[in-house]
Amino acid sequence: PKLSFDAYRDITRQKPHRRALRLAVLTREPDNYSTRALIAAAERRGHAMEVIDTSRCYMNIRGMGGEVHYDGRRLPHYDAVIPRIGASITSYGTAVVRQFEGMGTYCLAGSEGITMSRDKLHAHQVLARARIGMPTTAFARSPKDSGNLISLVGGAPLVLKLLESTQGKGVVLAETRKAAESVISAFQGLKADFLVQSFVKEAAGEDIRCFVVGGKVVASMRRKGKPDDFRSNLHQGGTAETVRISKAEREVAIRAARVMKLDAAGVDLLRGEDGPKVLEVNSSPGLEGIEKTSQKDIASLIIGHIETKVAPRAPRSRVR
Ligand code: ADP
Repeated sequence: PKLSFDAYRDITRQKPHRRALRLAVLTREPDNYSTRALIAAAERRGHAMEVIDTSRCYMNIRGMGGEVHYDGRRLPHYDAVIPRIGASITSYGTAVVRQFEGMGTYCLAGSEGITMSRDKLHAHQVLARARIGMPTTAFARSPKDSGNLISLVGGAPLVLKLLESTQGKGVVLAETRKAAESVISAFQGLKADFLVQSFVKEAAGEDIRCFVVGGKVVASMRRKGKPDDFRSNLHQGGTAETVRISKAEREVAIRAARVMKLDAAGVDLLRGEDGPKVLEVNSSPGLEGIEKTSQKDIASLIIGHIETKVAPRAPRSRVR
């Protein structure tokens, strides 16, 4: 029977059919908001998603491809893996991701991107090479160089950051050169590596988190610290609201994610008087703050991006 024009149009306008995917999220936190949001989004879109505890993966590294084992069984082939590797197990976690990459699995954050973004020195060097704006940043190891280091970033006030810092815990503002010198000597006494950064005063305790998925900024929020805190981390009691970002901010966020080789990333930047200054590119950005602030289903956008990477549109069934 011949189809009417309207019926034909309805069929050709249907959402392109994509096959159901087998997905896994690598995390040690099966119950946190981000994990649950990703599972729910995957299931809503018709995919199967497993939660795998990164630290319990064990591996067989052989000449012919690789395998990942878990709980006495060999893990199946996944179409895609979403790594959400905590800072405390970066090295082991990236080894697991690398193993999946070797098996041809698409990893939303690749091992290279995770490694680069976790190492503050490496990340700053890669961003600088790409001419991405950032606060003037310096680092040194020898105690003899601390005076020069302070001068290199233009003197006090300045910000000192432990390389191991996450969630703003190891970030200190030194208002005077004297204060900077004593913090540096304390860090050195503890044999802790750190970097020194010019203080972007005009940011006024606020930063902007741009959430990038597949080369687009899908949501952004402005975070503000507690009164009297120059750090805007939500973990330090900060608050967040949606913000309209400028074209320059959008472009810099997209470029920062790209040079860090991350298909999904949280790019943190400060509004400097001479343009955006990138602080950090996060390879497993949390979803709770950004989803609640922006009222957008970011998890679903992430799964949608994975679909375009691993499940090209199925050929349209012919209309008979
Ligand atoms: P962490 O990785 O521990 O979160 P960040 O580098 O992101 O450390 O710094 C934490 C917060 O401190 C930032 O969100 C920002 O609000 C503030 N901050 C960091 N560096 C600077 C700087 N150079 N100038 C002004 N504020 C800064």
